[in-house]
Amino acid sequence: MIAARRALRRRGLLRGSPRAETPGLRRGAPCLLHARGATESEGRGENGGRFGGKDPGARSAYVHLPFCKRKCFYCDFPVVALGSEATGTEAEPPIFESYVNLLEREVGRYASDAARGSSGGKKLDTVFFGGGTPSLIPPRQLERVLRRLDDTFGIEWEGAEISMECDPGTFDRRRLRDYIDLGVNRISMGVQSFDDRLLELCGRSHTLREVYQAIDDLHAASPASWSIDLMFGLPHQSLRAWEKTLDEAVAAEPSHVSCYDLQVEEATPFARWYEVGMAPLPDEDTSAEFFKMASRRLGSEGYSHYEISNYAREGHECRHNMAYWRNSPFYAFGLGSTSNLHGRRVQRPRKYKDYEAWVEDHDRRYLELEQRGSGGEAEEQVVLDRLLDEVMLSLRLKDGLRVAGLDETFGGCGIADVEARIMDAVTVHIEKKLVLLSEDGKSIRLSDPEGQLVSNSIISDIFCKF
Ligand code: SF4
Repeated sequence: MIAARRALRRRGLLRGSPRAETPGLRRGAPCLLHARGATESEGRGENGGRFGGKDPGARSAYVHLPFCKRKCFYCDFPVVALGSEATGTEAEPPIFESYVNLLEREVGRYASDAARGSSGGKKLDTVFFGGGTPSLIPPRQLERVLRRLDDTFGIEWEGAEISMECDPGTFDRRRLRDYIDLGVNRISMGVQSFDDRLLELCGRSHTLREVYQAIDDLHAASPASWSIDLMFGLPHQSLRAWEKTLDEAVAAEPSHVSCYDLQVEEATPFARWYEVGMAPLPDEDTSAEFFKMASRRLGSEGYSHYEISNYAREGHECRHNMAYWRNSPFYAFGLGSTSNLHGRRVQRPRKYKDYEAWVEDHDRRYLELEQRGSGGEAEEQVVLDRLLDEVMLSLRLKDGLRVAGLDETFGGCGIADVEARIMDAVTVHIEKKLVLLSEDGKSIRLSDPEGQLVSNSIISDIFCKF
C-alpha cells in the first residue's frame, strides 16, 4: 500500500484538490513527464530488454525549444522569456544560436548509443518540437536540429510524423511553408481560447485577431495535420464562453483538437492569485461540465475522443504522443526535457545554466544513471513502476488497458496475480459503468465521459492493490 501511495504521489494523482478528479494533462512531452514527477534521481522506467527483448527501441524524439515572448500566468514549463528580443523574424536573438549548439552537442553524444542499437536499428518515426514556442525559432535553426537528428539516428523521412508547436503571432505563411519544406508535417497551435479577455487574463502574448490570421495561414500552407490546442477551467471562463470557443475551433476545421484542463501549478502567478475550486476558477461541477461539453461537441462533429484530452479526425491522432501513452521508450533533448531510455527516465535541468553544465557533463552522468539499475529491491520498484505507468497511461486511451497477458509479462518479474488484482479493483466501477469490459473480456477502458471524469479515483483503486 505504501508503495502504491508513493507511486500515486509521484504521478501527481494525490493532489487533494477538489479538481483532482477532472482529467487533463497538458500538451507535449514535458508536461506529461513533469506531471509524473520524473527526475534524474528518482525517475526510472524500464525498457523491454528486461522483459524478454520485446521492446523495439526508441523511435521517437522530443526536442524542447524553450523560448517564449513572455511567460503566461499559469505556466510552469521550463521557459526562457525573451521579452523585447522576441521578434518572430529572421533577426534572431543570439541565444537561439547558442541553444541549438547545445542541442547539437547533446544529440551528437548519442551517436554511440544509436550505434549500440538502442533503436533496434530503426530510424526515428516521430519527432516533436515542443516548448516554449518553437515557432519563434527560425527555420534555419530547426534545420540544424533535424539534420543532427538524422545524422545521429536517421529519420524515416517517408512516413515520419514531425510535429511542431506554434503559437499565433509568431509565424507567417512563408515561415510555415519553410517549416513544411524541412519536413514538418504536423502543427500543434496553442490557441487556448477564442476570447480576447480570457487570453489577456492568462497572460497569453497573442490576440484573437492573430489567432484568425494563424488559421488562415495554416489553411494556405496546408500541413498534413494540424491541431488547435485549447484550455478550459480558466478564471472567469463561463460555460457559454467555452461553448463559443468550441464552436470557433470546429469552424476552423483542424484535423485534431486538444482540450486541457487548467492545472494551477505551484510558484506561478495563478497559484498566488487563485484558489482551486473557488471563484473566479470554476467549481468541480462546472469543471466536469466543461469536459463533458467538449466530449459531446467534438464527438458530434466526428472527432474521435482517442485520449482523455485529445480528439482527432480518423488517421490524425498524434503518433508521437501515442508513443508516450503506450509507455514506449523515447529520446528527449533540451532544457527540462525527460527521456525514457535503457529503462531510465532522465530529466534534464530546468534552468538554462544548469542545462549547459549538464550537456558538458552528460557522458559521465548518463553512465552513472545506467549503473544504478541493478540490485534487488530497486529492481522490483522499477518493475512495479513500469506496471503502474502502463495502467495509468493506457487508461487515458480510448482503447484502454489490455489486462490479459499482464500476468505473463510481470509475473516472472516478481509481481503475482496482476490481472486478478486489477479486475478486483475495477469490479465496482464496471457495475457502475464507469469502466467498460471489452467483448472478449481481455481489456478494460474508461467510459466517456463518466469514467474519464473520475479517472484518478479508478487508477488510485488499482494502484492500491499493489
Ligand atoms: S506560450 Fe506556452 S510555454 Fe510559453 S509561457 Fe505560455 S504556456 Fe508557457
